[in-house]
Amino acid sequence: MRRRDFIPSLAAATPGFARGQWRPAVPERVESLTAGPRPAIALNHLGFQPGGRKILIYRLTANAAPKEFTLRDLVGYPRRFSVTKAFIRRDGDFGPVMLGDFSDITAPGMYQATAGGERSVPFFIRQDVWKRTLPKAVSYHHAQRCGVAVPGVHEACHLDDARRRDNGRYVDLTGGWHDAGDLRKWMSATMTNGFGLLHLARNLGDRWDEGVRGVAALLEEMRWGNRYFLKMQDSDGRIWADVAGGVNGDNSDNHWTDNIAGTEDDRYLNVSKPGMVQAMWTALQGMAAQAFRRTDPGYAQACLAAGLRCWAANQRGGNTAELSWWTLAATELFRAGGKAEFGEAAARLADELLALQETGFTGGQKMVRGFWRAGRDNREPYAEAVYAAMPGIALLELAAALPQHAGARRWRDAVRLHAEDYVLPMTSRSPYRIMPFGVFYGAPTEEKYRPLAGELTYRYFLPTRKRSWWLGTSSVLGSYAALLANASRVFGKPEYRDLALRQLEWIMGANPFGACLMTGEGMRNVFPHSRYVGLINGGIVNGIAGNPEDEPVLDTEYGGDWRTAEYWSPHNAFYLWAVSNLEKGEGRGAFS
Ligand SMILES: [Zn+2]
Repeated sequence: MRRRDFIPSLAAATPGFARGQWRPAVPERVESLTAGPRPAIALNHLGFQPGGRKILIYRLTANAAPKEFTLRDLVGYPRRFSVTKAFIRRDGDFGPVMLGDFSDITAPGMYQATAGGERSVPFFIRQDVWKRTLPKAVSYHHAQRCGVAVPGVHEACHLDDARRRDNGRYVDLTGGWHDAGDLRKWMSATMTNGFGLLHLARNLGDRWDEGVRGVAALLEEMRWGNRYFLKMQDSDGRIWADVAGGVNGDNSDNHWTDNIAGTEDDRYLNVSKPGMVQAMWTALQGMAAQAFRRTDPGYAQACLAAGLRCWAANQRGGNTAELSWWTLAATELFRAGGKAEFGEAAARLADELLALQETGFTGGQKMVRGFWRAGRDNREPYAEAVYAAMPGIALLELAAALPQHAGARRWRDAVRLHAEDYVLPMTSRSPYRIMPFGVFYGAPTEEKYRPLAGELTYRYFLPTRKRSWWLGTSSVLGSYAALLANASRVFGKPEYRDLALRQLEWIMGANPFGACLMTGEGMRNVFPHSRYVGLINGGIVNGIAGNPEDEPVLDTEYGGDWRTAEYWSPHNAFYLWAVSNLEKGEGRGAFS
């Protein structure tokens, strides 16, 4: 028997993959890798826009409390600038901190802060502080191409994908993108790349890279991935789940091959057709139809036709995540073709989604409401490692596409309630202002759930004793950043924009480890779990997860830990989505 490679990998974390109770025989080593007292400074390594909120956190874990911090510019011309400002003490989740606000410093330049004898990572104040990272983040997707040589990354690979799991027959499924620090090609994960690229194209056009390669580069990358996605549509119109996902939930397909179809090392096509994949795929083809309409009308038409076939071949509905994607699918089909029936279908799906929102205070408390339940027959609050903010994202997209519809106010009000009575109170509990993974009723597993009020509890990080996979929350934060950036514009609320940025700042270094989670930006990056190609510029790792005590953990010791250190494409996709939502222009709050 061939030796199988059982190193677990994030791709196994595809929702619905593993269910049920699970208890590790031995705790994962990463559970012990909590943050030490140094660095004490937690600050976004990229820096800040001149007009933006600028926060420096000094952690007091075993550190004496400094009263002030000093900021100086690193150029020192024509005159050295230096200012000392007072800290304010804040107590909250993750322990007490000194909080420094230097939002009044607006002059562009490169700066460094010092506090308690520690120097911060040098950082910029400049307008394009986020936008300038986009080419790097996009290049990550390019590096993940499968089925072709990527110079400097890998030679042509997997030209023999794939054989069907059920009857062994060969189907040409070359191409697409590797989804993570491994070589597999899950649809649910890699389709998020398409949404990231196309939102970037839609929101910024040629401005995304100052016109150097322009929108054409984004469309070309999208077309590469979509060639594979289109091949994943079965003759019945429905979409297969993955290539090389692993035959029995294992990692057996995660390897290089000889590129010759029909030999022993060929990888498998998983012919199952999960509901969410259908919905995401339809939404993506609807977006592709719009994106290519001007430059390649024939291709745009083909994408639309394929999307319509998938729409017609499926029963649309499901749990909260699936309903969100179906709502977005109908919205994008409406935008692509202008047909009223899709607008009406989107409205019906949105109302089904609204029925899953807890608009009253549940669990004997009066602190939070407006979160979603997991599904019609599941009153557990919706908590998702990847598609966390999708219900709100879908509702705002629909309200934007059909602003005159009788339901538009309802959809916006649902998002407003979610933001005001759930996101704001939950993010106020820590000085970092990050969105927790979710709220819960009681303690569903044997580990710490932080008391909120009444029956309600919460965790910043995924439970570790529920199932075999749990991982960092980069996509939770990225998806909420995308939602809050749009909500800021729609409701005319600048504080939502600040909050969107705080989610991304955690990823970029404003966290208890002082670690930047994107390769090629910032400092103290973890070495990624990326066993085949090593570092990928612009790649974002799963990020900070929690141990059973819900304390932040991160593999800062080169342990190859996948839970915190593996690249995964959805993080990059939501990063592109969020930054482009932030950069598309302030505008006026249309519905403030
Ligand atoms: Zn490959």
